[in-house]
Amino acid sequence: MTSGRTDAARALADAEPRPYWLSQAGAPPAADPLGGAETADLAVVGAGYSGLWTALLAKERDPGRDVVVVEAETAGWAASGRNGGFCSASLTHGFDNGLSRWPGELDTLERLGRANLDGIEATVRRYGIDCGFARTGELSVATAGWHLAGLAAYHREATAHGLSVELLDRDRVRAELDSPTYLGGVWDRTGCAMVDPARLVWGLRRACLDLGVRLYENTPVRRITGRGAGLRLHTPGGPVDADRVALATGAHGRLLRRLRHYVVPVYDYALMTEPLRPDQLAALGWRHRQGVGDRGYQFHYYRLTDDDRILWGGYDAVYHPGGRITAERDQRAATFRTLAVHFAETFPQLEGIRFTHRWGGVIDVCSRFSAFFGTGFGGRLAYAAGYTGLGVGATRFGADVMLDLLGGERTERTGLAMVRSRPVPFPPEPVRSGVIQLTRWSIARADRDGRRNRWLRTLDALGLGFDS
Ligand SMILES: Cc1cc2nc3c(=O)[nH]c(=O)nc-3n(C[C@H](O)[C@H](O)[C@H](O)COP(=O)(O)OP(=O)(O)OC[C@H]3O[C@@H](n4cnc5c(N)ncnc54)[C@H](O)[C@@H]3O)c2cc1C
Repeated sequence: MTSGRTDAARALADAEPRPYWLSQAGAPPAADPLGGAETADLAVVGAGYSGLWTALLAKERDPGRDVVVVEAETAGWAASGRNGGFCSASLTHGFDNGLSRWPGELDTLERLGRANLDGIEATVRRYGIDCGFARTGELSVATAGWHLAGLAAYHREATAHGLSVELLDRDRVRAELDSPTYLGGVWDRTGCAMVDPARLVWGLRRACLDLGVRLYENTPVRRITGRGAGLRLHTPGGPVDADRVALATGAHGRLLRRLRHYVVPVYDYALMTEPLRPDQLAALGWRHRQGVGDRGYQFHYYRLTDDDRILWGGYDAVYHPGGRITAERDQRAATFRTLAVHFAETFPQLEGIRFTHRWGGVIDVCSRFSAFFGTGFGGRLAYAAGYTGLGVGATRFGADVMLDLLGGERTERTGLAMVRSRPVPFPPEPVRSGVIQLTRWSIARADRDGRRNRWLRTLDALGLGFDS
């Protein structure tokens, strides 16, 4: 083992194999499972951000509407409680992806995305949700020479589209956060907030209950069928009959056959350090506490917590052939070691620091990297899925879209090409696995020098891809 690998093993030795955020004090006791027949005007399946925002916004739009949320496990146990907490204004999995897919619509998407982030901030304040919401912005950093041209292009295009982003040379980016690996950066000061993901879930859950939403946890929906003018959710504890249904099942969605073609579950992993001492924090200089992401195709994301730990995640994005989701796959020793080695290379000042938690979770990857929307059962059901690793903020927008669609309303949102179009479906297995593994292999090679091979260029030309 190289010394880097030995140090990584030592740093990881005591890390607990569970999501840091969900292990904090303050988790609410589980609501009772459904035990009998229920009815509702609106039934929401899933209590991650997507489902909780849908329930909350439905009540805010019409306090008289009877809303039930049905969750297979407990609210936020999946991606929503274990993510990096980057709450981005982007609805398109980043500016660059939005520009390449919806250039004519991007200004509108950016405006709606900022209004969405403002709406999240206003909700957090209105309901007193204690989730550490801080609009720190985000630093995008170059750690390889070939990243610099991409950063400059991003800065140029974003500025042309009226975003307030700042291009930083090596000294200026290192004055924001001191890593010897940095060559330059772009600071988007306003387009991203940091949140504590689990505390945001718990706060949204509380706000829903206070508005009269009825929540059933540990209640999996096995099937959805039509019933008269409405729909029936079949659960082990009894049926839920509802006029309208919102499907907010993320990467776990198996209820609607068509979603299986569009979404693949991909594992993303993260580490959490022990709290930094003041001298360690001072050695980094991280005064503005921005979230940070590097420009690699396999990128790292990292940020500070309220108590000065560093969350460090990303890089590997793992798809398992067949796409089954299991609790064992939340742990992946090889990925944790790689992440720990990269952490030590990025912050040599923190030599000897220990990780306290290591975990993974699934994201709902689609081939265009950003959410898509639709209806089923003659408009009685709506869904939003495919957030591909950037759904902390965008799920609130998706909730609004689902409510617009269920209400048959024509809004600025439902008129968007982004909302009206669908991603290209993934091919069925075993071709699916082959395509994804070839793409991952090609991306890993492209990260060496920025050159995209013929396979990636073909996918680019078709507007297809695989990302986290
Ligand atoms: C490690 C990691 C890091 C991430 N970092 C970021 C980040 O920094 N910023 C960002 O924007 N995004 C990030 N993401 C992605 C983000 O967490 C997701 O986009 C977002 O949480 C999706 O919310 P959701 O409600 O759609 O899905 P989920 O949180 O997965 O919730 C879906 C819920 O539906 C329930 N469900 C499914 N099927 C049924 C059924 N049949 N019956 C009843 N209930 C059902 C599930 O139990 C689950 O609770 C990250 C994800 C991971 C895993």
